[in-house]
Amino acid sequence: MKLRKVTAAAATALVLALTATACGGDDSSSDEGAGSGSSGGGDTIKIGIKYDQPGLGLKEPNGDFSGFDVAVATYVAGELGYQPDKIEWVETKSADRENALARGDVKFIAATYSITDERKQKVDFAGPYLLAHQDLLVKADSDIAEGTDLNGKKLCSVTGSTSAQNVKDEIAPDAQLKQVGTYSECLAGLQSGAVDALTTDDSILAGFAAQDQYQGKFKLTGLKLSNENYGIGVKKGDTATVDSINDALEKMVSDGAWDKAVEDNFGPAEYKNEPAPKIGDIVA
Ligand code: GLU
Repeated sequence: MKLRKVTAAAATALVLALTATACGGDDSSSDEGAGSGSSGGGDTIKIGIKYDQPGLGLKEPNGDFSGFDVAVATYVAGELGYQPDKIEWVETKSADRENALARGDVKFIAATYSITDERKQKVDFAGPYLLAHQDLLVKADSDIAEGTDLNGKKLCSVTGSTSAQNVKDEIAPDAQLKQVGTYSECLAGLQSGAVDALTTDDSILAGFAAQDQYQGKFKLTGLKLSNENYGIGVKKGDTATVDSINDALEKMVSDGAWDKAVEDNFGPAEYKNEPAPKIGDIVA
């Protein structure tokens, strides 16, 4: 919201009015904007998720949010003292995650966010809560498979993701890599043949492939090109929140809510996920 031509007195009155409503506001530049306190009881909590990844983090056309990350984040928020109606979802695209946490835009991020040493320089992680693997989504009639040299192929992935980085570092440094802002942006190119494969985590790709409009059009190659240990990102140094989230994740697994979230969200895509990881157990 931009304020123009407002007198100082009116501006002050407006600020006071906004503060008095304690609505969580849209002040995204302070820690307060991320929710109040690390362990609950506060007004609202802002949580970063993806908006375009069916089965993981999706903003539905009717404004509802769904997916495994949403279920995990909702459970964790509950343990921190925030009921679902106190959650404000914020889109955190792959390249925006570290900055969103550093700025205090969100209290935590559950957005297919792999724990890596590089990211740990900038943010702290709770978890892991899921182990996924990088794979390729190709057209149903594609001959790309195990053993195919991907150098020379046209790949699409997302800026700021481990998926794009892994292509450049190891998987196919000579491939033509198109990098966009979100994975769903790669799908049109895959459909038209402008790119040969969309590459990211199998969990994400399974969700896309299962969408009604893509039925029969795409397939996953089943190649496990990397290990992606999903963590919940928090602001660097906020160890109290990391500890609370780890407790919540442990409880989610032990009381069966993790299994239920898997069934509800990965079942429709027939995604065969790995078993629940142990907190702190990173698969290299
Ligand atoms: N899990 C990978 C990552 O954190 C790929 C998925 C994503 O971009 O969110 O980069």
